[in-house]
Amino acid sequence: SAKKLIAANWKMNGSRALVEAVSQQLTSINATVDVLICPPATLLAHFPVSEHFSLGAQNISEHQQGAYTGELSAGLLLEAGASFVLLGHSERRQYYAETDALVCAKLQQAVAAGLTPVLCIGETLAERQQENTQQVIAKQLAAVYASHPELLVKSVIAYEPVWAIGTGESATPEQAQATHAFIRAQLALYDSAAAAKVRILYGGSVNAANCQALFAQADIDGALVGGASLKPDEFMQICQSAK
Ligand code: 13P
Repeated sequence: SAKKLIAANWKMNGSRALVEAVSQQLTSINATVDVLICPPATLLAHFPVSEHFSLGAQNISEHQQGAYTGELSAGLLLEAGASFVLLGHSERRQYYAETDALVCAKLQQAVAAGLTPVLCIGETLAERQQENTQQVIAKQLAAVYASHPELLVKSVIAYEPVWAIGTGESATPEQAQATHAFIRAQLALYDSAAAAKVRILYGGSVNAANCQALFAQADIDGALVGGASLKPDEFMQICQSAK
């Protein structure tokens, strides 16, 4: 399938020292994998321009510009060096009350400005236990692509089961593959050609020890890495495991 994409979500972590360490490390990455770093926005401009990795933001405003104190627009982040943006991360949905409708508005802003959105979706532990995983995911996808199927060809999807984020308990390769296949089938309802090509990343406790088995699955096109992306050696190992 597609060239794999390994994305780092630094969340509210990192420093200029980590920018240096990671950019240095990635100068020796091989071109068989795409690498994306999503640091806090204030660090974007401290990265050197590099052919070895792309940069992304972790959030954007749903507005294009104007009197929105404290917010950052897609255009500002593009100018700061971002070419991707994470949208709808479960931490944004949980702690900042982001709804499906808000995520859809942000995704439209991202694409209009020329940023590639990485749409994050996934079920909570309670939703999985109630066997509602597919329903939850179908709803999160429909909220964007039922009304805007044209955005799929410009998107990356990240499946992040909430119960696997930061817990050390990754989904098994089989569990992840089953959900990724379901995601691709759902997306085919909106644009079958785009669904076949869209990159679907897995996120949730990915590390150097478990990534290879995940990458071996047919519908896993890369990873969205949190904690392990803050360790330059381990992140490099994860990138090198994807071919
Ligand atoms: P961890 O890799 O720390 O579980 O975080 C996953 C994540 O939320 C990436 O967006």
